[in-house]
Amino acid sequence: MTADKLVVATRNRGKLAEIAAILDMEGLRLLSLADWPGAPDTEESGATFRENAVLKAVNAARFTGLPALADDSGLCVDALGGAPGVMSARYGGPDLDDEGRYRLLLEAMRNVPDSQRSAKFVCVAALAMPSGEMRTALGELHGMIAREPMGDGGFGYDPVFFLPHRGCTLAQLPAEEKNVLSHRAIAVRAIVPHVRELLGGACSKACPR
Ligand code: IMP
Repeated sequence: MTADKLVVATRNRGKLAEIAAILDMEGLRLLSLADWPGAPDTEESGATFRENAVLKAVNAARFTGLPALADDSGLCVDALGGAPGVMSARYGGPDLDDEGRYRLLLEAMRNVPDSQRSAKFVCVAALAMPSGEMRTALGELHGMIAREPMGDGGFGYDPVFFLPHRGCTLAQLPAEEKNVLSHRAIAVRAIVPHVRELLGGACSKACPR
């Protein structure tokens, strides 16, 4: 099959720009769900990042009739048995904002010693074709949960996610650097060969065979 359009299953402009920069394929037109105001939101009811990413991609491909790319991500903390995991956006309930969620996490980790504060951000990217074909790719970023928030960049849990090899939190890194090493960047880079495979001629110029 060849196709020259790909829908990114998000309404978030920042996410679309980040994914566009990584895909960077000539001849491939990227759209987003913002181009389909009537598209229903997908309930993230899966038990895994992969299930949620696939749900979002399949729903977008069905609704638009075009190939669709979705991602699902979150933070997994070893000392908390992998929590908040797929619940990352909803950790602590609907009344908390990003800061409320990371402060709750710091509280849950208060008595955890430095040697047991390992964590990872996980992202699964899913590519769904209208024909039903599907590919997924995983990205992980390993780090530690800090003892207090540091930095004001990024979003979500970035201020408490410490990168030992950089000596700072994700919120202290310039956006360009985060966008290269993030779990999302790794997953989207890993899905690129599948985009080439399934969308065929659309990216033949950018992806010489
Ligand atoms: P989703 O993949 O857009 O559903 O994001 C899930 C949640 O995981 C976000 O709301 C954040 O709480 C958290 N999360 C995912 N990626 C990041 C990141 O890069 N930095 C900080 N928090 C993140």
